[in-house]
Amino acid sequence: HPALERHDFSAILETINREVRERFGEGEVADYIPKLASVPIDRFGMALVTLDGQVHCAGDAREPFSIQSIAKVHGLTLALDVAGAELFDRVGREPSGVSYNSLVQLEFEQGIPRNPMINAGALVVADIILSHYERPREVLLEFMRARSGNPGVGFDPEVFASEKETGFRNAALANFLRSFGNIHNDIEAVLDFYYSQCSLRMDCVDLARSMLYLADGGFCPVSDTQVTRADRAKRINAVMLTCGTYDAAGDFAFHVGLPAKSGVGGGIVAVVPKVMSLCVWSPGLDTRGNSLLGGHALHRFTEITGLSVF
Ligand code: GLN
Repeated sequence: HPALERHDFSAILETINREVRERFGEGEVADYIPKLASVPIDRFGMALVTLDGQVHCAGDAREPFSIQSIAKVHGLTLALDVAGAELFDRVGREPSGVSYNSLVQLEFEQGIPRNPMINAGALVVADIILSHYERPREVLLEFMRARSGNPGVGFDPEVFASEKETGFRNAALANFLRSFGNIHNDIEAVLDFYYSQCSLRMDCVDLARSMLYLADGGFCPVSDTQVTRADRAKRINAVMLTCGTYDAAGDFAFHVGLPAKSGVGGGIVAVVPKVMSLCVWSPGLDTRGNSLLGGHALHRFTEITGLSVF
């Protein structure tokens, strides 16, 4: 790709890192569980991994954090592989326009969540995974380790325990979905898998690598395997672009113009098809639950490089 020769990515990331650090303090760190509330707001990391093997980092790119909803993408990949297109009979693919943990649309839409990137949709995806895999937690962990090339990736037991203890809204969503017949497994098991997925701890480099398969038609260069079919990789990217940052997806498409997925831990992963994947992390969130400085950094990155799907 010509962009790979044209740009000095290390210098670009360093420029963004410098700019962003002057704005430390903006946004609010997620406070629904103590382990997230105690993360210092003055952190920023950015990593970029290209399909031809370059790795560029800036700031706190090697500091692990709670990946939270970013794992909804990996979960969707695992579920699509076993359920195929029928997955979309149980979960939609339209942006929700409401907050990621909202219950209201389910009432009007007969228990079919708008998309797999919001909590309701991810719970149905978790249910599908539970129906098809015997050891789902191990399968997910293995998937993350193989995609990132880091055998040290693991769950954070403290985050898992607090998610479970305070997850009344997710429990409500799961029960509500069940009332429409859209959860088939034991509710507790579905929630446990969902919380496990949220509690994965990774750093920017691992996370950027973990989504490289979405930049290359489902082929993961880290593990040298076809992870998912090209048509499925295309669909996952489409869902990320339209729904990956919840009710700010329009704003992200407008300012950044890349398929991206955020989490309330402050991470955002974005894909530049055929070129690279990148990850930013800064714990201060905007009102929609997306990293405020992370969003700014991605905006600046596409502005400087012109790398966007548009
Ligand atoms: N653990 C969070 C929840 O389920 C994840 C949400 C997120 O990252 N947006 O509410």
